Amino acid sequence: MHCLPDENRSGILNGGGVSVVSPFALETWRVESSMINLAGKTAVVFGLANKRSIAWGIAQKLHEAGATLAICYQNERMKSEAGDLINDLSGASGFQCDVSNDQEIEALFAALKEKYGKIDILVHAIAYAPPEELKGEFINTSREGFRIAHDVSVYSLIAVSRGAVPLMTEGGSIITLTYYAAEKVVPHYNVMALAKASLESAVRYLAFELGQRNIRVNAISAGPIKTLAARGVGALGDMLKSHAERSPLHRNVDQLEVGGTALYLASDLASAVTGETLYVDCGYNIMGY
Ligand code: NAD
Repeated sequence: MHCLPDENRSGILNGGGVSVVSPFALETWRVESSMINLAGKTAVVFGLANKRSIAWGIAQKLHEAGATLAICYQNERMKSEAGDLINDLSGASGFQCDVSNDQEIEALFAALKEKYGKIDILVHAIAYAPPEELKGEFINTSREGFRIAHDVSVYSLIAVSRGAVPLMTEGGSIITLTYYAAEKVVPHYNVMALAKASLESAVRYLAFELGQRNIRVNAISAGPIKTLAARGVGALGDMLKSHAERSPLHRNVDQLEVGGTALYLASDLASAVTGETLYVDCGYNIMGY
């Protein structure tokens, strides 16, 4: 038997008198609470490091809607923390894949084909640049730092999409994560800003090519959130403060709110949305100053 969290009980209980439901009822509540039903859909989510990861916010929302989840973590070092989280989501399985390695991508999609046959949703929540590239001056960007940032953060979207497309036999939705620094200067974001600009362009090119297979490709431009990757960017605290002060909603966004938009993009509600960058940033991007 499972107890529902207090704040969620009103979603299924009339009058709020009962606090315990069967596992079956909990599953039903999950689907109803999201109002989007992804039962029978399989989602592959890349980029789970820990409970602060945007991938975790997205995975929870897709799971609530009934999707079967394949969740990918980068390497052996990440396995234990990611594995504990994955175990919390019934029916979810963990897979290891370093997206800078073509053999690992190939082996992953062979394993996914074997286990699931087809997939419907692909979430790419991965980025990396060597730490020194995000602290110093942009003009000192190294050739190797530029290569790594674009390889891991951009090329990987193309590579995993190529792996996923043959398994998206009934159409699909591919979602990646970007940031406003692709368009406007955000001090310290440096080479990662160029990678995000390239990523947003890759989304448009993939959307163009994959449209004929009814596969949609979109990016979510999230406001700053304190995650492992974001902590690598200098002055994250200043960014968070400025966003909260200047955005129309006067606060920062959280991982589950990004997850909610990913859920929408994954669902038929977004059936005519492709090639877009959607802002989930409390409105920060609309401000002139
Ligand atoms: P995170 O550190 O939790 O996630 C980044 C993930 O990328 C980690 O799981 C890491 O293991 C993975 N990764 C890095 N190199 C990899 C590789 N070679 N192979 C496989 N996986 C690899 O941080 P996050 O903030 O959740 O980042 C997810 C995405 O969201 C990134 O694309 C990031 O740029 C984007 N984003 C983050 C913010 C923010 O403020 N946190 C804002 C906008 C966009």
